[in-house]
Amino acid sequence: MQKEKEMRLRFPPSPTGKIHVGNIRTALFNWLWARKKGGKLVLRIEDTDTERSTREFEEIIFKELNWLGMDVDEGPNRGGDYGPYRQSERLEIYQQQLDKLLREGKAYKCYCSKEELEEMRQQQKEAGEIPHYDGRCRDLDPAEVPGDADYVLRFKMPETPEEIVVRDLIRGEVSFSSEDFDDFVIQKSDGMPTYNFAVVVDDALMEISQVIRGEDHLSNTPKQVKIYQALGFFVPDFAHLPLILDEERAKLKKRSDEQAVYLGEFREQGYLPEALFNFLALLGWSPEDEQEIMSREELVEKFDISRVNKSAAVFDREKLNWMNNAYLREADLDRLLELSLPHLKEAGYLDKSSWLMEAGRFSGEREPDRDWLKEVIDLSREGISCLAELPAEVELFFTELEQEDSEAAAQDFQDPEVREVFQRLKAELAGLAGEADYSEERINQVFQQVRKETGIGGRKFYHPLRLALTGRGSGPGLVKFAWLLGQEETCRRLELALEQGE
Ligand code: GLU
Repeated sequence: MQKEKEMRLRFPPSPTGKIHVGNIRTALFNWLWARKKGGKLVLRIEDTDTERSTREFEEIIFKELNWLGMDVDEGPNRGGDYGPYRQSERLEIYQQQLDKLLREGKAYKCYCSKEELEEMRQQQKEAGEIPHYDGRCRDLDPAEVPGDADYVLRFKMPETPEEIVVRDLIRGEVSFSSEDFDDFVIQKSDGMPTYNFAVVVDDALMEISQVIRGEDHLSNTPKQVKIYQALGFFVPDFAHLPLILDEERAKLKKRSDEQAVYLGEFREQGYLPEALFNFLALLGWSPEDEQEIMSREELVEKFDISRVNKSAAVFDREKLNWMNNAYLREADLDRLLELSLPHLKEAGYLDKSSWLMEAGRFSGEREPDRDWLKEVIDLSREGISCLAELPAEVELFFTELEQEDSEAAAQDFQDPEVREVFQRLKAELAGLAGEADYSEERINQVFQQVRKETGIGGRKFYHPLRLALTGRGSGPGLVKFAWLLGQEETCRRLELALEQGE
């Protein structure tokens, strides 16, 4: 009986830039499928573009995969039996395969200069043809070749037209005609293999059984199939993931500073990795039960490559915001605090000059009072979709009181009934025995007591009080707010309001 082949998948990014969410979605689908099927996931760095590839970008790739919790089984950092895992370290391997094709007459040297190719292209365009290489070097007599001329290697596509069939796990069998492809370059004049060649050699020698990648590569696949066949390699199955479009149905790319498209930008804006993980998994796939919020384990369990859509997925930022909000609400507060600190710092809220520092909210070491910050974050997290929005949401807690409409407030504060409420509240709250006695429960008792004693309740009680404490017409619950503000500051604000109403 034949042993079932081990499932081996790969993610082969090019380290030529910051990593785009589209690329990460590809990595994620490979990861989910490998984990679901107990297969292996290989990370391969495709750095044959020597001008644009850098180790810094490579580091970013490792960092981002790690951030999202996607471990790989083999790769430059992990090792494995199929290395090296950087294409730049595999040049000899490619050369052997290139030599083989040359020897067998399946590839040839092309000496055409840039100018000659350009002229060919122009003439074809004028004749109404699609520009292509016309094969003029295919049967070149070696005697005609100048010894030291630069050349590239081209792959010989079939002379007689044939159908090339790609087995795709999402699209079924996709047919192409060999006539639509010319003799393409497989090795550049500097000796570097081209993508289409190197990817085949690597996928074959690394025994990749399924190639899962973006739809933008579908048109490369027939060329790759021909190379597999020419080298006598087993042709893997393919799965081409649908494109990701933005809300305007255009290709998802950078349009403005606010609109993140690189994974690192989402992290900087305070999206949680588990939220992005969940969101990206739903770009082009959904489980049968249509569940939306799913843990990593649930996603692994439910994922199925054959359920991936053929049609493009839309990167719906509103949905991402909704999802991130859902994860923020559930997140551990200590963790959220750590993630929030850079945002609060950037907003200047933790500066020594902020009124909070003056009010002694932070200790002598000027370390933020973690418990207080956690309370503030807890109270505010419902209203934000990412942590970058936190400073605006918590502004009230960090900045000196400012009346949104000071004239209207002053008018309210002139009302004798309101003044009586403020005076009593101030006296009662100031009378509590220090911060320990200044609890939410006690504050609430004071509020109720003053309402009862003055006979003033409802809007007449709460609206001016809200203005006095927050400077705004709406906002957080007042008992909680007064508690977070602290005894001293709350009394100071009541006094301030009384002065304003004089
Ligand atoms: N390095 C290629 C890319 O990042 C890999 C494409 C493939 O998966 O074959 O687009």
